Amino acid sequence: MPNLYTAEVAAWRADRAAYWLDAAQDIDWETPPETAFRLRPDGLADWFPDGRLNICANALDRHVVAGDGDRMALIWESPVTGGTQHFTYAALTERVARFAGGLRALGVEQGDRVLICMPPVPESVIAMLAAARLGAVHVFVFAGFPAPELATRIDDTSPRVVVTTTCGYTGVRAISLLPAMAEALGIAAHRPDATIVFQRPGGRMMALPGRVHDFAEVEARSVAIAPVPVAATNPLYILHTSGTTGNPKGVVRDHGGHAVALRRSMRHVYDIEPGAVFCCTADLGWVVGHSYAVYAPLLTGCTTVLYEGGATGTPDAGALWRLCARHGVNLLFTSPSALRAMRSEDPEGAHGRSCDLSALLAVFVAGERADKATLTWAAGAAGVPICDHWWQTETGSAIAGSLRGLNTPAGRAAIGFDLVVLGETGGVLPPGTEGELAIKLPLPPGCLTTLWQAEARMQATYLARFPGYYRTFDQGMTDARGEVHVMSRTDDVLKVAGRRIAAGRIEEVLAAHPEVAECAVAGRADAARGQVPVGFIVRRVGDSPVTDLRAELVAAVRAQIGGFAGFRRVVFLDSLPRTRSGKIMRRYLPQ
Ligand code: AMP
Repeated sequence: MPNLYTAEVAAWRADRAAYWLDAAQDIDWETPPETAFRLRPDGLADWFPDGRLNICANALDRHVVAGDGDRMALIWESPVTGGTQHFTYAALTERVARFAGGLRALGVEQGDRVLICMPPVPESVIAMLAAARLGAVHVFVFAGFPAPELATRIDDTSPRVVVTTTCGYTGVRAISLLPAMAEALGIAAHRPDATIVFQRPGGRMMALPGRVHDFAEVEARSVAIAPVPVAATNPLYILHTSGTTGNPKGVVRDHGGHAVALRRSMRHVYDIEPGAVFCCTADLGWVVGHSYAVYAPLLTGCTTVLYEGGATGTPDAGALWRLCARHGVNLLFTSPSALRAMRSEDPEGAHGRSCDLSALLAVFVAGERADKATLTWAAGAAGVPICDHWWQTETGSAIAGSLRGLNTPAGRAAIGFDLVVLGETGGVLPPGTEGELAIKLPLPPGCLTTLWQAEARMQATYLARFPGYYRTFDQGMTDARGEVHVMSRTDDVLKVAGRRIAAGRIEEVLAAHPEVAECAVAGRADAARGQVPVGFIVRRVGDSPVTDLRAELVAAVRAQIGGFAGFRRVVFLDSLPRTRSGKIMRRYLPQ
């Protein structure tokens, strides 16, 4: 059998411009690009700089025009609320076009930001695609952030309109989202023109600062709007991710490169064709949800299954397998943490074995290091290959992993990623040697184009240390067969149940407590969440010490960062290990 992977890599290396212009033909353009990329002085590339398109038109209208309007675009299931909804491509296009009309009536124009703070419900997808339809920039924020985190994101992106909802769910527990939003709108310096609230049956409406509109009314009173073609390089969205400081980084993604890269990845990475059923359980506030619950399946003409529930507890560890069986899911994309949780409640994999998973071809996982035992368990439960792949918010799709469509069972670099392993001084290390994984510039289409209003930070963070390369901040190596192995972060970013959390952000909160003299936060292995933060605290000597400082610190982190940070462990020390220059040596903190 010809080696598909080697042939594809050879074609890409031989003529990168021709390779990507060919890939661009999978997308509908108002003005097809003649130039694949234009190199910038910093070594990054502007992709398809002379092309014009609208990604929403490619995700929706295109399929209707092609006669597939009756095909299912989106199936939503919410085990907690009992809700299930089906949307054909025609129906979803109509709703998105009307909501886009509603946003336009509220003054949203090309380039304006629309901040969306919602759980995984169809209205979230509608709001994202409606913003994209207008050439506006969506900023999706995880529903569950406390007010200070929300306010930071409002001020960073100055949205014209905010879209939110009355409640979300953590497991079976309803969480009111409006109190945090009301507080955030109160403390943010920026004042959006309007807030649109989607009223859910389980949630309660409340007063918010500024003009407030009801989602359903905005949609009902509006006229449908056609997609606005924009330059391929126009920003499509901003998605914040943790850096090493408390200040989140707003990763910016474009319309054209993103559309081409995602469409290609469906073929190369997942081996999925139009009409297939794709289910990605990631929250929409995470890059994986953006790429594989929304854009990639819809760009490909697939059915996306959106799930508002947990891997366990809604009601049990069989929920995901039954979801796959009910909808004939062909490809499930979830996280190692979800599989670990399912395994701990169903060690024999009985739930999976009792479901009809005959449509399922593979399960993909990403977001954190996956342990062998969990992957083996999942393969037994699902009866299909479990594929690990490695990626980042910054790259928008997999950098390396199992590429099903190219017959590579284990970690190969995805096409377009010129992956190397660098030593301390920036030299390329030979196979089998561990170092920092880096990508030779230019980055392929679909990767970040900049950090929102922080170009200098972008350069300093990713490009300055190793000229000519993008830093991934992941430690790893390639082996003699070319397989990529990802070990751990090289910076102080933790992965708690797959979510990125800066140690520095937690330290900021701890250090603000009057009884904390010094503190450091480090990640420690955790059976359920992969990693959890542990706070190492040196107490200030005071007259009347707080009796339960641990509880106060845990509560402070929960209030200011959120429960998902998983911060519960505190260790009291007499002093912190420091270098002579005073830097904390995290690796010498107690294990
Ligand atoms: P995020 O931007 O939140 O998706 O986090 C990206 C980080 O998650 C990467 O830099 C890695 O540290 C980690 N990561 C993602 N996928 C994997 C994987 N398959 N194996 C190991 N680590 C991963």
